[in-house]
Amino acid sequence: MATGKSEPEAPLRLGLFGGTFNPMHYGHLRSAEEVCEALALTRLWFIPAGHPPHKTAQGITPFEVRLEMSRLAVGDHPVMSVSDLEGRRPGRSYSIETLQQIRQEVGPTWELYFILGLDAILEIATWKDYKDLFTLSHFVVLDRPGYDRRRLEEVLLREVHPLLRPLKVERGFQHPSGHKVVLQATTLMDISGTGIRKMVRGGRSIRYLLPEAVRKYIITHKLYL
Ligand code: ATP
Repeated sequence: MATGKSEPEAPLRLGLFGGTFNPMHYGHLRSAEEVCEALALTRLWFIPAGHPPHKTAQGITPFEVRLEMSRLAVGDHPVMSVSDLEGRRPGRSYSIETLQQIRQEVGPTWELYFILGLDAILEIATWKDYKDLFTLSHFVVLDRPGYDRRRLEEVLLREVHPLLRPLKVERGFQHPSGHKVVLQATTLMDISGTGIRKMVRGGRSIRYLLPEAVRKYIITHKLYL
């Protein structure tokens, strides 16, 4: 029966997954797929860092190469894609500036979900204007083998805001701004870019750690030797 009332529209949810992606691997891809599903994301953008402040410029693979590998890795996906926005911005790539830029570009209707690994959030106090990040976006933390998830609460309360409150249903916290920091359970994969680069340098196989198209790209372009 028509009531004359329109159904409430589903929120538009945009996941933002930054990183060096040198190269992108199944640890990133599978986690992203599971986050898309669990949070019903409308879109997820992988954002390769243009000029990462935390990695030494020496030896970092050029942005265009990391972008190309990331696009090969994601392929044709209904929700996920790769953004070149940090590569287009001059200077160091600070997440705070990326978030502000995205908020401006997409407008107020989208909910933003900043996705990062447990290793990264435990170091959040080294990021530029990191406290402000939590006023702009929800956070989705991916568990990672080898990192102690019990340290998350301690780091958040000490470094981010002493008034973060535990969430009732999900595993995580609510920031006074209303944004959540959720610890998302995903399939744990002990894969890292560092490990992959080391294996290539040592002449070892990297098959099945990342998409085949990326493995072939690495071999053809003689990366990481
Ligand atoms: P490197 O070893 O070169 O530092 P990395 O593989 O850790 O690279 P980054 O590109 O630096 O990957 O990471 C991008 C984001 O993805 C970070 O927030 C990181 O914590 C997360 N991440 C990386 N690998 C995994 C993994 N295996 N599982 C879950 N999250 C991951």
